Amino acid sequence: MASTHFNCTGCGKCCTDLRLPLTFPEAVRWLERGGQVELLCEALPWPVEPEADNAYAAYKRKRTFAADSGELPIRVGVTLAATFSGPCPNLGEDKRCGIYETRPLVCRVYPAEINPFFTLKPEFKLCPQDAWQAPTPFAIDGVLVDAVTRDAIDASRRADESSVEMKRALCEHLGVDQASVANEGFVCVTPERERLLVALIEVQKDNGVHSAPPQAWTLVSNRRATVDTLIQVGALSTMDVDASRDGSHYIGLKGCL
Ligand code: SF4
Ligand code: SF4
Repeated sequence: MASTHFNCTGCGKCCTDLRLPLTFPEAVRWLERGGQVELLCEALPWPVEPEADNAYAAYKRKRTFAADSGELPIRVGVTLAATFSGPCPNLGEDKRCGIYETRPLVCRVYPAEINPFFTLKPEFKLCPQDAWQAPTPFAIDGVLVDAVTRDAIDASRRADESSVEMKRALCEHLGVDQASVANEGFVCVTPERERLLVALIEVQKDNGVHSAPPQAWTLVSNRRATVDTLIQVGALSTMDVDASRDGSHYIGLKGCL
């Protein structure tokens, strides 16, 4: 049996230069505290429904909403992300989290993985060596045994699944209709804070019900071959340099945090 041992040393390295995924209520609280929240938009071409036993497709399906890009069916994934350069605005000089009791779920999960298709690999984490020498096992044979972290992961996955329609409605409210091709990058939209706050509250109140007509999505890429292929199959697609709008820009995957 291979076990991974871990105990947070409180070094604060994982609290710097982030795009931190948030649930809807967390995004509202982050904005109310004066922070910045962005929408990271990506889309998967979805020309046919995958087989029912395709576990990865099923996982993606639950976290995305169906839409069209021209003639191409797609599924759009939107992540609400708290964005900051340098230390998190909640990180104190003593490296303690100033909102520890109410910190976002994703902060409670690190260094574990929310995505069940990713395995915890200490060498890819920011935690120092001594954090991995705790006496208590954190994971055994890749399976997380830490109950508190497991609960946070379950809560995060449930929040992801239950907010899909609210994310669709949020995009409709804000007129967001551009997404990257998944795994290439993100279209990063930064609405003005008050406008986003109002939209988030409205959308939660309506539980994602929004009567606007379906949007036609444009798929954005920084790769000419991707754009050409998408156009050939009838999608709406454009290069990143032609897609920039006020409050919106493309981030290639290497540029993402
Ligand atoms: S909210 Fe707290 S735990 Fe999360 S990144 Fe900021 S300082 Fe770190
Ligand atoms: S990098 Fe690891 S050890 Fe350091 S504060 Fe974050 S979770 Fe804890």
